[in-house]
Amino acid sequence: MPSLRDIRTPALVLERGILTRNIAVMAARMQPHGVALRPHLKTAKCAQVAKLATAGQFGGITVSTLAEAAYFAGHGFRDITYAVGIVPAKLGAVAELQRDGTIVRLLTDDVTVAEALAVRATALGTTFHVCVEIDTGGQRGGGAPESDALLGIARRVHESPALCLDGVLTHAGQSYATPGAEAARAVAATERAGVVRAAERLRAAGLPCPVVSAGSTPTAVHATSLAGVTEMRPGNFMFFDLTQVGLGSCTVNDVAVSVLASVIGHTSDGNRALVDAGSLALSADTSANAHLPGVGFGIVGDLWGRPLDGAAAFPLASPRTAPPAASPAPGYLAARIARVHQEHGFIESMTPLPLDALPVGTRVRILPNHACITAAMYDAYHVVDGSDEIVALWPRARGW
Ligand code: PLP
Repeated sequence: MPSLRDIRTPALVLERGILTRNIAVMAARMQPHGVALRPHLKTAKCAQVAKLATAGQFGGITVSTLAEAAYFAGHGFRDITYAVGIVPAKLGAVAELQRDGTIVRLLTDDVTVAEALAVRATALGTTFHVCVEIDTGGQRGGGAPESDALLGIARRVHESPALCLDGVLTHAGQSYATPGAEAARAVAATERAGVVRAAERLRAAGLPCPVVSAGSTPTAVHATSLAGVTEMRPGNFMFFDLTQVGLGSCTVNDVAVSVLASVIGHTSDGNRALVDAGSLALSADTSANAHLPGVGFGIVGDLWGRPLDGAAAFPLASPRTAPPAASPAPGYLAARIARVHQEHGFIESMTPLPLDALPVGTRVRILPNHACITAAMYDAYHVVDGSDEIVALWPRARGW
């Protein structure tokens, strides 16, 4: 069996045991709410992960690109929500994907698009399933739950024999701006209230609304009530990352993906080790620092994810609150990627780095700030299960 000691770096590593635990925990969270899980595969983009995430569920998934839709349809997934606002130019490709009975559910918040959907569905000899996108505070796609436009769009969809009005969909992306469980709970309540209100308005107007779809990882983790919601679409929860640690969605021990890198040298001041993982291997996303000041471009551990310097480099206690910027918890900062160039990363530490213990060729593992973006840099996961032995290679979908 190949080992993490042998493969070319940088490489993306996935801990199978953590992945399956994260999936089981989310399934157990949804169960008492009686809400279906339609996991978002934008993070994983991988059929093997999708099969684990949908096991015991109804089988529906969410995607963020048509390339993902085609990839997952090719792996037998037949109920797919494409959760990015549709443009008419993509409808030919959607119709093609639906030829074998797959449903690729579409999203719009625009009445002119609803009209184009009706015309194109008839011309293409297909039926498009449509959700109206609702903004519940994220200020991205969607209209307000109380907007006049909502009923106009929904009615236009419902009136077309070539369209099927499935319901309403929202994603409270503002859940990422609010560290801590209490704030996430409040966003989850706002997300639920907004999307349920939109559904009630449709029904009061005599329109069908079987699907009331919501969710992000922080709101799915922290929601106390999901009454009226029919499905949740978290995606990042399968892997988690340092951003989710900072938000209080998980602990560092729940992060399932890491980047394997090699030490390629030391800076001449003797303070920093260089690795072959820079912005293209880790991404330049520094979002976790908003909640965990000082984690830089990722926390660095040894080949097995243990602290580099023997200190508690990975905070093992549940870090529900971010360390204050003025007195950063040494645990977070014992070893981190402080700076990146395209193919270089600089390991720095609050405590002296044991550079003699990090000779050129030493392998380290870096926990990412934002797993969705970091994973997007790779063609495959090197799957391990608590050791450095690679138990599987799982490909990822790429493209748009
Ligand atoms: N639904 C939509 C529309 C999204 O855009 C996203 C993520 O961007 C999700 C669900 C999943 O949220 P998360 O990444 O927090 O799991």
